[in-house]
Amino acid sequence: MSLKQRPGRNALFIPGPTNVPEVVRQALNIPMEDQRASDYADFVCPLFADLKKVFRTTGGEILVFPGSGTAGWEAALTNTLSPGDKVLASRFGVFSELWVTMCERLGLEVEALDVPWGEGVPVAAYAERLAADKSHSIKAVLVTHNETATGVTSDIAAVRRALDAAGHPALLFVDGVSSIGSLEFRMEDWGVDLAVSGSQKGFMLPTGLAIVGVSEKALEAGKRARLPRSYLDFAPMVKANQTGVFPYTPASSMLRGLRVSVDKLLAEGVDQVVARHYRLGEATRRAVAAWGFTLVARAPQWHSDTVSAIFLPEGHDSAGFIRHAYERFNLSFGAGLARVAGRAFRIGHLGDLNEWMILSALAGAELALRDFGVPVELGSGVAAAQSWLLEKPAALAAAAQ
Ligand SMILES: *Cc1c(COP(=O)(O)O)cnc(C)c1O
Repeated sequence: MSLKQRPGRNALFIPGPTNVPEVVRQALNIPMEDQRASDYADFVCPLFADLKKVFRTTGGEILVFPGSGTAGWEAALTNTLSPGDKVLASRFGVFSELWVTMCERLGLEVEALDVPWGEGVPVAAYAERLAADKSHSIKAVLVTHNETATGVTSDIAAVRRALDAAGHPALLFVDGVSSIGSLEFRMEDWGVDLAVSGSQKGFMLPTGLAIVGVSEKALEAGKRARLPRSYLDFAPMVKANQTGVFPYTPASSMLRGLRVSVDKLLAEGVDQVVARHYRLGEATRRAVAAWGFTLVARAPQWHSDTVSAIFLPEGHDSAGFIRHAYERFNLSFGAGLARVAGRAFRIGHLGDLNEWMILSALAGAELALRDFGVPVELGSGVAAAQSWLLEKPAALAAAAQ
């Protein structure tokens, strides 16, 4: 029997792709349709309007490109900046590092601040650089909102305050691939100019769409931006979208799926979605503490409600553990990446997830940990998580409405 032929379901607790709700999967399974049909705009225009509610913005545009989050990074950069432009960024995990690398490859001048893994955006250092940059040579400030490799969430509002305190006009770019649609994200209130997301995390879809929020200020900056761009050019997309069409064949099935996932997010309520992620994230952290393990995130201010990166006790191989959990129990956890490879594993707790699902992940983790020879007290993490989940009946009731 191959691994795929095993009975029961695979439990997917990686931080993307996430579990696709059944209603979304069904929405994806449609006959191909004519994207130039006269009623296609009736579908497209309200979808863009509703995406703005998820991004929490009223101005600007939300653009959807075939691609993944990485294409969203590239679209954001190439549509707003020119060769040699200076950008201020920080590296504290695989994704924030990759974004910096992309900037360098595109010919931008990057000042990248290195931060110990387990911490997030260095707001004070950003504030210092911005205040010192009297000539406004910094054109963009980049922040990875939720560093998926380390389970660290950064404070975007604080970065906005630093920009405002310095009276600095730089564009604010935020990688929200593993935060938008799950964590609190306020594009307009935080003055985010480029907000990058993808389909396979909080949006609960297969991989295949880059979803990019663009402020009016960023659209304006785009008129002077000289980095080469073609497929990911904002201008033809904005123009076509106004009448509910696209400059090239849209990923129609994915858009139909996106319609249903956005409906789901809005029906639950964005605030309730955020509250649910906090409840489930905290349940995971309670379990980790009960096991006596530590998070890669170094302090509560960095705790991510969408993914926990967890160190195994010294001397235990996390890559072997993940492999064992999959092969023996059909349970998928995220790998520790790069600097924490072999030492940490990740539990993704974002997207289409509820209490019993996270409890099953934690129970499965305990089983697999013990079977792999890592000492944990059976039931300890599950009990700690259950106690926490019982603690907040009011929030639970509100979330269930
Ligand atoms: C997943 C992820 C990406 C990359 O997105 P792809 O869809 O894999 O291209 C970028 N940034 C963060 C924070 C992510 O979690």
